[in-house]
Amino acid sequence: MGMMPGLAAKEFSKVSLNGRLSDQSMVGIQMAAHSMFDEGIEPVMDFLSEEAEINALLIYSHTYYGIGNKPYQVLAKDHIKPPKNLINRKLPPVWVKHNEKAFENTILRHTKADSSLEYADRDIFQEILKPARERKMKVFVRMLESGGGHGENQIINYDKVRVIDIHGNKGSIACWNNPDYQNWLFATMEDMFRNYEIDGLQYGAERTGPLSLLLFKGEIPTCFCEHCRKKNSGKGIDPDRAKEGYTLLYEYIKKVESGTADKANTVMTNIWKYLQKYPEILGWNYEWFQTDENNQQEIYDRLKNINQDIVVGRHVDHQRSSWDPFYRSAVGYDEMTRSADFIKPILYHEIYGPRLRWWVIEEWQKRMFNDFTREETLNYLYKTMGYSPEAQIPLDELAVRGMGPQYVYDEVKRCVDSIKDDTDVIAGIGIDVMWHGKDGNPQPYPSDPLELQKAVFKAVDAGASGLLASREYDEMRFSSLRAFGEAIRQLK
Ligand SMILES: [Zn+2]
Repeated sequence: MGMMPGLAAKEFSKVSLNGRLSDQSMVGIQMAAHSMFDEGIEPVMDFLSEEAEINALLIYSHTYYGIGNKPYQVLAKDHIKPPKNLINRKLPPVWVKHNEKAFENTILRHTKADSSLEYADRDIFQEILKPARERKMKVFVRMLESGGGHGENQIINYDKVRVIDIHGNKGSIACWNNPDYQNWLFATMEDMFRNYEIDGLQYGAERTGPLSLLLFKGEIPTCFCEHCRKKNSGKGIDPDRAKEGYTLLYEYIKKVESGTADKANTVMTNIWKYLQKYPEILGWNYEWFQTDENNQQEIYDRLKNINQDIVVGRHVDHQRSSWDPFYRSAVGYDEMTRSADFIKPILYHEIYGPRLRWWVIEEWQKRMFNDFTREETLNYLYKTMGYSPEAQIPLDELAVRGMGPQYVYDEVKRCVDSIKDDTDVIAGIGIDVMWHGKDGNPQPYPSDPLELQKAVFKAVDAGASGLLASREYDEMRFSSLRAFGEAIRQLK
């Protein structure tokens, strides 16, 4: 199927010259299909278009990542209709119709349509096309590969493509190197863009590599499946040496966690010992990210092969954009441009505060930074990630006030400065992103409207070509979206 007339990949062009936006600048929003159906397609579009200045709808095609992880208390209450509690709703994980024939070269299959599920008879990407065009809004597929442990179990034969850890046990998520997984991913993309007139895609994974997962979170290293062994052997990395190195490092980190590690040397010194003795550890980690790049490239090439005008964007998750130095350094933004028309880094300034305090500093300090205080660990992170003094929020204020607009500026600037071609940078601005709670009690983390507007100004000032209201529509209050829209109007 062809694209709508006049739509070109570069229609959303670099228009942020001198810190301004134009009507051609992409201003998108991420949302799940059920929100459209719950509140009404046209009223939702009218609000977004007229009051929040949104001209691109990025709607999830698949919700295996787990849509029910937002409890009722974090859903916005000032929308067109009151929210329905997501926890016990039976919503489908697949929101597009797939052709069985497209999946002939993979053992994986999407979960079958079940008529007992809510909205099972609806077809969001068909239904929104006309009203979106009438309002000059673009429609994007948003597909997110989650960190595992959610609805992936509903993908048929998923168990056969899971990563394998150092002990030979299966992990929670698929191996990027597994050909059945790769073919399933590519088939999913191609099938969607052949069946629907969608303007573009935003795709990305939210999972880092084995080294970060081990040093920062103490997780058991993966993947040592036959496909990973073969691929890395071909790169000159000995799989047995890599496994041995990861196993010894894993055993050591477990001792650090339990306070039983030998204290003769610092943790950092010991980690450096393993990395030098087993450089295969670093090589294995690096190649993991290269596999992701290869998969991204394959998606890009296949979609462009269907239609050059399909806009392909990359979602860069929060740990990659903001706090994981291994993840960040393995593939630079300049390298990502090969497989992207736009790059969208997550820059949730407010929720980054508690995330940094409890997901990062607290976890790092238990392991790799065990000999550092929490303040020292935070300073190390700020210096390593290159935050300007103005962006650096003190440890005891992080969870309370979050990070500020200067952090958004610093990250957008770094992204823009890294990119040497005309790839667009779309800033993922966090709006009312819930906090999962340090004890697992989710709670709202409402945006301050002035700080939100400042974050928008800072992003454009740093060179962003466009903006993406994030994370998801159903948690963003209309009051915040109005403030967002007002900021966009001021920039035009
Ligand atoms: Zn593998």
